[in-house]
Amino acid sequence: MVYTLLLVYGIIFGSFYIVVGLRIPLKKSIVTPRSSCQTCGHQLKSYELIPVISFLIQKGKCRGCQSRISPIYPVFELLTGILFATAPLFIGWTGELVVALTLISMFMIIIVSDINYMLIPDKILIWFAGIFLLERIIWPLPPWWDSLLGAGTVFLLLLIIALASKGGMGGGDIKLYALLGFVLGFKLVLFSFFLSTLFGAVIGSLALVFKIVKRKQPIPFGPFIAAGTLTAYYWGSDLFELYLQFLFQ
Ligand SMILES: [Zn+2]
Repeated sequence: MVYTLLLVYGIIFGSFYIVVGLRIPLKKSIVTPRSSCQTCGHQLKSYELIPVISFLIQKGKCRGCQSRISPIYPVFELLTGILFATAPLFIGWTGELVVALTLISMFMIIIVSDINYMLIPDKILIWFAGIFLLERIIWPLPPWWDSLLGAGTVFLLLLIIALASKGGMGGGDIKLYALLGFVLGFKLVLFSFFLSTLFGAVIGSLALVFKIVKRKQPIPFGPFIAAGTLTAYYWGSDLFELYLQFLFQ
């Protein structure tokens, strides 16, 4: 029951995060105007704004002009719902669950923005920095200074990589990682960086092989940071042990 509730909340929040991720980089209000069809400008009525359900009822078409609505929106909403509903399975019903849901929320907004504009807006990072600061005061990492160590180390590391690779690493990515270091601590943020790079390299080369992207075409790194971080956050300690065993066997 409570998992279903989390699923529904996630879907509703997911639909809000799409709006935030699409509008904040354009410096538009996230409240007004209401969403409208990108083809005909038909402003959506409240019954057309129900996440996932409206899409299914309308068979993925705009009521105004019958043009197709991208299925990426309901899929994204559903994904947010699933991530919300599964978080307690990994984190448990503790205060840390609040941190987990905040982390998922930030990632969903960043993914929308990064895929659409190749940009992680400062404004989003600043909002979430404030929220995470508050959360880590209430639910600190053991020990609390691991937050500072994590943020400082990953910031310096990525700054060096960015300078050495002359722009191979975006400024938004570096700021995001500093924030993630604060949330996850030293060990997990480095592991998250390792996993994100690995996921990015594997998926990036597959996309090249199957000609989904062209050589030298930049790929948004945000989705990989999200996948790497959640993997590290959920399974990090176990995977880290396995990795150490592998190194020193
Ligand atoms: Zn339309």
